[in-house]
Amino acid sequence: AAKKAGRSSWRFYDPSLQQETYEAILLTNSLRRVLERGELSLHYQPQLLPDGRTIVGFEALLRWHSPEYGQVSPLRFIPLAEKSGLITPIGQWVLEETCRFVKRLSALGWDDLHVAVNISPKQLLACNFVSRIRTIIETAQIKPKQIVLEVTESVLIESLEQSVEKMQQLHDFGVALALDDFGTGYSSLTYLKSLPVDILKIDKSFIDKNCTDHDQRQLVASMIELGHALNLTIVAEGVETEPQLELLQQYGCDCIQGYIFSKPLPEQAALAFLEQKRKKLSVPDGPS
Ligand code: C2E
Ligand code: MG
Ligand code: MG
Ligand code: MG
Repeated sequence: AAKKAGRSSWRFYDPSLQQETYEAILLTNSLRRVLERGELSLHYQPQLLPDGRTIVGFEALLRWHSPEYGQVSPLRFIPLAEKSGLITPIGQWVLEETCRFVKRLSALGWDDLHVAVNISPKQLLACNFVSRIRTIIETAQIKPKQIVLEVTESVLIESLEQSVEKMQQLHDFGVALALDDFGTGYSSLTYLKSLPVDILKIDKSFIDKNCTDHDQRQLVASMIELGHALNLTIVAEGVETEPQLELLQQYGCDCIQGYIFSKPLPEQAALAFLEQKRKKLSVPDGPS
């Protein structure tokens, strides 16, 4: 034990590392009580057809407003939730809350919209994840295909066989699966073919460089072509500018998610966004 302490004691002299660890501990402690204190909420970012007029669904994105630390980014707290095991109850809450939103959409006549949920590798690999999803969806009385589960490539690297098996079971049940942040990991084209995914989400980093760099443009065009060859729906995420949108339209990208159309919105604002689109289309007897 002395040796161990000795070895790690150098940490003590690195103020930035110490600070980082200290903050992580504080945040994790605070994270333990987020559910009982009602500090979490979901925002929903619209996904539209490239024409910008038709909404096909939303992505649910977790928000934490802490009384002590203010607004904390999911990029900061999700890894802490994963490390501490808190991702299980938090992930469960996210799924239940999303299904409640889907149910609300249906009640308002929006039956054919989907809502995508991010799933961390740890959640997916939990032994009862598939049955838990089934229970949540059946309890909410929504259709499985109204839910999209987004997984990142990292899950496949961690344990390919197990992940694929779970994904297949979920797919058989009827939920759609998306490969998130596509292109940022080590996904090999070989296994992309064997994965039970329906949707590819091209990461924002590729979209950012799309307009400025010829090679990057070619890369994005190839990703879309490849995805289509595998019968996948292609979603571009992080689309911010008109030139980016035009290129993606030109390449035949199926779906656009980004600030150009909307930031992630609180539930009420998401519903208002839907209403506004419906009015603009001036469909006299849309869903009621
Ligand atoms: P992600 O799943 O790749 O989500 C897309 C991120 O890009 C979101 O960041 C979204 O707000 C942001 N984004 C979308 N369009 C634009 C744009 O045009 N410009 C810019 N600058 N950003 C855009 P957010 O909400 O901060 O979430 C970050 C990440 O946290 C997510 O990346 C996802 O990996 C993770 N996350 C969020 N909610 C959950 C959750 O409920 N469960 C899990 N496991 N992870 C989550
Ligand atoms: Mg996502
Ligand atoms: Mg993503
Ligand atoms: Mg991303």
